[in-house]
Amino acid sequence: FMESVWWVFKQLYDKGLVYEDYRSMHVCPRCETTLSQQEVSEGYKDVKDISVTAKFELVDEPGAYFLAWTTTPWTLPGNVALAVGADIAYVKVKDDTGTYILARSAFENSRERFQNPHILSETKGREFVGSSYKPLFDYYFNDTKLKNRENGWKVYAADFVTTETGTGIAHEAPAFGADDWELLKQVNLPFVQHVNGDGTFKTEVKDFAGMEVKPRSDDDKVRLGTDIEVIRYLQEHGTFFSKENITHSYPHCWRCDTPLLNYATSSWFVKIEEQKKRILDNARSINWSPAHIKKGRWGKWLEGARDWSISRQRFWASVIPLWRCEKCKEQRVFGSAHELEEVSGLAGQGKKVDDLHKHIVDKITVPCICGGEMHRIPDVLDTWFDSGSMPYGERHYPFEKKEQFNKVFPAQFIAEGLDQTRAWFYYMHILAVSIFDKNAFQNVIVNGIVLAEDGKKMSKKLKNYPDPMEVVNKYGADALRFYLLSSPVMQAENLSFSEKGVDEIVKKNIGRLANVLAFYQLYSNDTPRDWKSEHILDRWILLRLDQLIREVTDGFEAYRLDSAARPITGFIDDLSVWYVRRSRDRFKTADFSASSASLRDPAESSAVSQSTSPDSASPHLASEAEKSALDKRNALATLRYVLLDLSRVMAPTTPFFAEYLFQAVREGEDEESVHMTSWPEARATANFIQRILGRGRADQQLLNAMTFARGFVTMALMQRSEAGIKVRQPLQQLTVNSKQFTEKYEKELFALIADEVNVKEVVLGNQDQDTPGVLLDIEITPELREEGVVRDFVRSVQDARKEAKLTPSDKVRVTYSASVDESILIKHKDLILRATNASGLARGTGEGITVEKV
Ligand SMILES: [Zn+2]
Ligand SMILES: [Zn+2]
Repeated sequence: FMESVWWVFKQLYDKGLVYEDYRSMHVCPRCETTLSQQEVSEGYKDVKDISVTAKFELVDEPGAYFLAWTTTPWTLPGNVALAVGADIAYVKVKDDTGTYILARSAFENSRERFQNPHILSETKGREFVGSSYKPLFDYYFNDTKLKNRENGWKVYAADFVTTETGTGIAHEAPAFGADDWELLKQVNLPFVQHVNGDGTFKTEVKDFAGMEVKPRSDDDKVRLGTDIEVIRYLQEHGTFFSKENITHSYPHCWRCDTPLLNYATSSWFVKIEEQKKRILDNARSINWSPAHIKKGRWGKWLEGARDWSISRQRFWASVIPLWRCEKCKEQRVFGSAHELEEVSGLAGQGKKVDDLHKHIVDKITVPCICGGEMHRIPDVLDTWFDSGSMPYGERHYPFEKKEQFNKVFPAQFIAEGLDQTRAWFYYMHILAVSIFDKNAFQNVIVNGIVLAEDGKKMSKKLKNYPDPMEVVNKYGADALRFYLLSSPVMQAENLSFSEKGVDEIVKKNIGRLANVLAFYQLYSNDTPRDWKSEHILDRWILLRLDQLIREVTDGFEAYRLDSAARPITGFIDDLSVWYVRRSRDRFKTADFSASSASLRDPAESSAVSQSTSPDSASPHLASEAEKSALDKRNALATLRYVLLDLSRVMAPTTPFFAEYLFQAVREGEDEESVHMTSWPEARATANFIQRILGRGRADQQLLNAMTFARGFVTMALMQRSEAGIKVRQPLQQLTVNSKQFTEKYEKELFALIADEVNVKEVVLGNQDQDTPGVLLDIEITPELREEGVVRDFVRSVQDARKEAKLTPSDKVRVTYSASVDESILIKHKDLILRATNASGLARGTGEGITVEKV
């Protein structure tokens, strides 16, 4: 990896995209390293500070003072100039304590700080340019050898001066501020660096030598201790005017939380501004999910990007592979270990460079053409340089696997958190554009941050979130995965993690589907899958499957994983609470060849009053039974087909359950694993269309009609519950008003509705009405009541059988208590015996209903 990083650096260096400059950077005094623009931007937080207004006495006018304001009192010993706005209006104000110069607006805003003030005169800032003032501290002023000393401690005009805060006069410590540094370069100010890289005052700053300028502490007294000392010094030396507590946004080290210092330092940079056009042009073809990041967070960051400081003063990192001659300053960059071996002469001694870490390569010297010796510069690379080099380093490109690299670069897609927009995504892009003028990736999925349920950051200390492994152990990895995939996190939004949400996924998706599978396995009898059934429920679920495949495919193709995951829940719901529920009787039908008695549950069938017997040998009934058996095979074949394709559709979102499902329904010729199958296509539709041209419209009609049918069921059941009538009590009639039922589906759909609502018949009402609605006939005739009692009784017997853990073929004797209407039972005895596989029915002495195996 490191060798590829060297190669990347050399590519940039050879293209003239790397340069060294002395400039004002943010440094962490504790880590003693510079930070990149991105690192600084992530570390801003609000802190309390003390701002101070100091008095700078005019050399030509003792007793008159410029008032300058700063929020960093510790920079005052490094002051070398004052800056004013050339066109800003300033006033000279006399009060009981002295004469002061400051911006007019600043004076008006702080009049109360003066004692009996009156304005002596008003001028523009340019009038003061060139005036000398007495320094607050003499540590550097007395150094007669200081370069550009003659330019120091004077007033200059600068564009960056404003009157929004402070006095309209800026204190300049060029080594500690970006604007200040620019001014130093413009007017050749003396370079004074009164603070060490570790954040302590240098020895020549006698009064504060060795003190940390901004100690890291949660205690404001400690953190501001040095600033307070500086202010005390000013007070003792008559140069203090006023102070104020302020709260402002200040950058901190993202690693150690130490307040950062602005510090003029030598650093290596990658040119960004010069390449800006290429960077933006290439970025145009990257597809983002969610889309708004492209022009938002990412686009804005690219537009404002500045040159990238890549050098760091650390130990564990990839080194900058640059060697420099101490004598003639000649420099040489190595792009491979081999090159360094050759040039350093190590190869001649039969030695290899097989470790590129700092402590090894720093010992390797290279002879210079001037006769001197080249040493590696001590800096290492910003860790983001490594991250950005990942596409190359991953394969040790270009030293190995060149062909493989060419095949997979740029990456088809990458995924990471929103915070990487300014980090990994950005640096990969910068390096790929710099080297190849190409994108590093074509598609990028940006996820949001997962927070604790209380909306706060997950914190080990607060224990405000469940251990992820516990969640996995309790609910399964699939549930957690599906929960996250279908959450707002996929839209780069924050998610407050809820264990309940994971639990819901288990119940709604995995649990329900597992029940469907268990039900299927109970009856499957290894019936091969097929999609040709003409039964309305089979056709409908196949159409829903097609719909699901299309929705999920579209979601994945657009890299919108949430759009790809969410439709699965709706499909499982349809499959479980409608398709399987309404097909129950079809599955439970006895096989035609089987002679065992049918155990249809009358509670789920309206056929209670029919007295057909599967044991009958009449030719008409045999063909009926044959028909049912065929229908059973159709249902099983269809369900198997649906479950197989569903396992493929679910493979990316719930890989473990999908595999389990696949193994349960795969057939001999199928692939070994769902993860080896190809992605399903909406084949059912295509095949149907092949069979009957122009069926697409009819398909859509069926989907719509079924949606209406389910809506009517919901309304009818609501009317039942309003009337206080149990679903088990049969009713006579349901009237539906709708234009949705073309004649084609009317009969079949009405049968489904009748079954589900438990009515004898469904009739079409007034179709002129615009609003679809239903009307349930709630009259319970004596016949209907009898039927209800029988059903109730049969259901209770079935429950008792279940409780006794009997199998459907176990014959039983049933006893009931006095509370049951005996006359009805006697009247329907044959039916009850058949439906419950019982041989006897009698009144007992105990409570409730009991079954006894015979
Ligand atoms: Zn730090
Ligand atoms: Zn040299």
